[in-house]
Amino acid sequence: MTDIIIVGGGVAGLFAAISAKKNGANVIILEKNDSLGKKILITGNGRCNFTNEEMDSSYFVSSSDDKDRFVDNVLNSFDNSSLIKMLDELGMSYYVREGYYYPKTDEAATFRDTLINEVERLGIQVIYNFNLRSIEKVHDGFELSNKIDIYHAKKIILATGGNAAPKTGSSGDAYYYLENLGHSIIKPLPALTTLKADYPETLLGVNALANISLLINGQNVASERGFIKYYKGMLSGIPIYQLSLKAVPALNRGDSVKVSVDFISDSNMVNALNRTGLRVKKALCQSINPKIVNSYYKEGSKVLTEQLDNEERDGIIQLFSNVNYEIMGFGSFDVAQSTSGGVDISEINPVTMESKVCSGLFVAGEIIDITGRCGGYNIQWAASTGVIAGRKA
Ligand SMILES: Cc1cc2nc3c(=O)[nH]c(=O)nc-3n(C[C@H](O)[C@H](O)[C@H](O)COP(=O)(O)OP(=O)(O)OC[C@H]3O[C@@H](n4cnc5c(N)ncnc54)[C@H](O)[C@@H]3O)c2cc1C
Repeated sequence: MTDIIIVGGGVAGLFAAISAKKNGANVIILEKNDSLGKKILITGNGRCNFTNEEMDSSYFVSSSDDKDRFVDNVLNSFDNSSLIKMLDELGMSYYVREGYYYPKTDEAATFRDTLINEVERLGIQVIYNFNLRSIEKVHDGFELSNKIDIYHAKKIILATGGNAAPKTGSSGDAYYYLENLGHSIIKPLPALTTLKADYPETLLGVNALANISLLINGQNVASERGFIKYYKGMLSGIPIYQLSLKAVPALNRGDSVKVSVDFISDSNMVNALNRTGLRVKKALCQSINPKIVNSYYKEGSKVLTEQLDNEERDGIIQLFSNVNYEIMGFGSFDVAQSTSGGVDISEINPVTMESKVCSGLFVAGEIIDITGRCGGYNIQWAASTGVIAGRKA
């Protein structure tokens, strides 16, 4: 009988397998795809932002009030410096830009291949094209089956990911088996995704630097600065992804959700409006994308800056510092970068990643009801929880 079977050969499964094997365990990875780490290849726009200089529980969200304690426990065992030290030992080169870590080759494949090289070097057995279809708890461990073959293990680590980017293999399969083993699953929802809003078609393709706030039931709950993208009827871009962590659960609850965009803070637009001899539209376009100006500013009889009185000038400033969008939906799992919800953290020991309701069962990665912000936090989470599960199983 195998000591530990890991289901899922993504980030969490690969780190779990390497750690378990280094701990002396006999390990098998069961993977649905015909290759390991498929999702890694599409991370960070193909460059894989694998961690961040700044790392603490405030960069993660969960439906649980106990999130900070849980994440702190995990990071105390294996944090960003532990991950970097491990990659140093594995001999992978990297660079840091504005606190974000990437492989030095600028290729996500390098991160994946470094982990695969170590799996191969350690002689870890991988069973490909194994689509887990049932888990049975038996007296001496577990039986895992794809309805054709059965594998026995004393302990198992489920690292099958969430529902995001299902084409890469993670389609939320394991939630069902976890429920059968007694776990509670918090409803999985797309996270780090686009938000659906009504805006003029003329804005399609625009990419604008702005301060963006999220209002839930009229309350400003979060703000981000960055490039907002108008893409296929959705609002997109990193700041929108970050805000989606709060927006999607709110929409799911039926709350009113709005995004308010300030295009003029940190700009010289006011200076331009205070000059003379400039056409108002031209003054605005010195700071704001012309398509945004044309979509929201209708020229009246006063076309020159010096024709505006103070009230009219303030009105223009107000207009572009507060463009509001009612959010009517969100991007599906096909476009989401992560999953919120998953295994309820109150049922997992954060020091070991072992289930509190089914002994010998461990979980790691996106399958858990913890989601990181964009910036390398989700790969760090998968690595940290994978290493802990691999060491403690
Ligand atoms: C477009 C995109 C960009 C991203 N960019 C970044 C980034 O730059 N930085 C960052 O930190 N995070 C990023 N993420 C998020 C990050 O990739 C994930 O959070 C992370 O890969 C989760 O790791 P995991 O091992 O838990 O799950 P996964 O990587 O999803 O791996 C799960 C594995 O389990 C296998 N599996 C699933 N079901 C079964 C089954 N029934 N039987 C057998 N095997 C199964 C799957 O085939 C897969 O190989 C991005 C995600 C996407 C989609």
